[in-house]
Amino acid sequence: MSTWGIVGHKRAVSLLRRSVERGRISHAYLFSGASGIGKTTLAMTFAKVLLCASPDPPCNECRRCQSIAKGTHPDVRLLKVAAGSNEALGNETTAKTGKSRSIKIEQIRELQRDTALLPYEGQWKVYIIRNAEDMSIEAANCLLKTLEEPPRSVVLILTCADAKIVPATIVSRCQHVSLWPLGVEEVTAALRQRSGIAEADAKTLAHLSDGRIGWALNAAADSSIVGDRDDRLHKVVDVTGGSRTARFKYAEELAALFSRDPEAVYATLDLWLSWWRDLLLIKNGCHDMVTNLHMVTRLLEQAMKYTVEQLHGFMVEIESARSQLERNVNARLALEVMVLNVPQAYG
Ligand SMILES: [Zn+2]
Repeated sequence: MSTWGIVGHKRAVSLLRRSVERGRISHAYLFSGASGIGKTTLAMTFAKVLLCASPDPPCNECRRCQSIAKGTHPDVRLLKVAAGSNEALGNETTAKTGKSRSIKIEQIRELQRDTALLPYEGQWKVYIIRNAEDMSIEAANCLLKTLEEPPRSVVLILTCADAKIVPATIVSRCQHVSLWPLGVEEVTAALRQRSGIAEADAKTLAHLSDGRIGWALNAAADSSIVGDRDDRLHKVVDVTGGSRTARFKYAEELAALFSRDPEAVYATLDLWLSWWRDLLLIKNGCHDMVTNLHMVTRLLEQAMKYTVEQLHGFMVEIESARSQLERNVNARLALEVMVLNVPQAYG
């Protein structure tokens, strides 16, 4: 069975392949899964399968496959989030709060005008809407029209990190395909094969990736990705052992960042969580499962200073800070409470 050249995601690929084989292509799909897990790659590959001229699609060699890969095929369009400030967003709001960027209603209207035209060649027109949770409410309502009465040749592929934050009216009109993290060994093997990096480096990246193959491949190609992550993680570790003043200052910095770039703060909270989850795993003797394997010495040293209850308790604090930010509670207050609740180390 062909995997379409996709690493992992066997269930998702076989579901899509069956729909092609049976000639029962849905007009709308929703691919959900963590950032960097491979949603866009799968969407682009599916577009190739639908349009490729070879008997065994996707061939990745024909003109259609190649122009899809380059983003120049007129029947495959990738909708991007419009960058800009809150001001540029006007009075459009996203379903998820705290966002300064969104997919705007004008982009959806333009898509709708385009769907009315016949495909340039072949049978399908594919529209990929990345990060569907970033649609403004107005844009989402507008898209509903297309989802309710899709033109015959149109296939919409929406992607999102979490289907729970996409409006239910949208989700219910899509075929939902969940993408789950890959295993450490699968990611390691793919990195060895595709990026040609050494076994030990591949293993480190595979652990850091949390099963997100796209993230791992990008990180293998660009060392600054891991470098930046390490800088932020070291700060987390320093703040953990730092004074009250240092913690307040850190919370203040993060809160300021939140108003400019909320996603960066959510990513930082993910780092906090990964560190404390690792401490808990080490404490429970599950060394193989830690994310930050390259900092195992530091983890071992810190894990000795906390009880299991303290580690559990603080992970709850991190989750609570996160959900408060999502609910638009005073960011600085939520972050201050979190850093002040870092448990007291003993020993
Ligand atoms: Zn092809």
